Amino acid sequence: MTETNPYRVSTHDLGRRPGSMRTVELDVVVTEPMGNEVIVVPAGAEISLDLRLEAVMDGVLVTGSATATAQGECVRCLDPVSRDLTLDVTELFAYPGTQQDTVRDEDDEELPELDGEIADLETTITDAVVLALPFQPLCRPDCPGLCSVCGIRLADAEPGHAHEQLDPRWAALSALRDVVGAADDAQDDGEQDSGSTGAPGTGGRG
Ligand SMILES: [Zn+2]
Ligand SMILES: [Zn+2]
Repeated sequence: MTETNPYRVSTHDLGRRPGSMRTVELDVVVTEPMGNEVIVVPAGAEISLDLRLEAVMDGVLVTGSATATAQGECVRCLDPVSRDLTLDVTELFAYPGTQQDTVRDEDDEELPELDGEIADLETTITDAVVLALPFQPLCRPDCPGLCSVCGIRLADAEPGHAHEQLDPRWAALSALRDVVGAADDAQDDGEQDSGSTGAPGTGGRG
């Protein structure tokens, strides 16, 4: 926890003078993947922050943008998908200890506070990334997905790719054949077993 947190930005220069501002540009290397089960900004990726810090009456307003590239897979065909994200960042960090008076209603969301003169942007950026990511990423909007019978990518298949639908009665017969085949296999195994063990337990009574 004591390691340098790259998301911590000093607001010291602003001196709590409303209207004073400065810009911050920095690249943060992601340490924990950010995202959902199907698409993330992976660990090791960079998030570029282009921010403006402005002192206001109650705190420091951080606005600007963050850009990053997310990696995932298409939920229909499982092809790799990458998404360039551009996120709007807007967060007001309250000066420490100034919120008791203003936050009365439970509806009022408590603002993040400056840690001394430091704005820790990690939660802000993580939330913005997670919100921007799709839950159902697609390689392309009209991705046809995979064939439900043979599993090939329909985008690669010949037009009108389809399988002959078996007559249900034939399907039943085919299933029966599988069962019989399996039984034959089991019988073969059984004979081998009894031959090698001399069938103990068959003449126990008497
Ligand atoms: Zn796809
Ligand atoms: Zn198919």
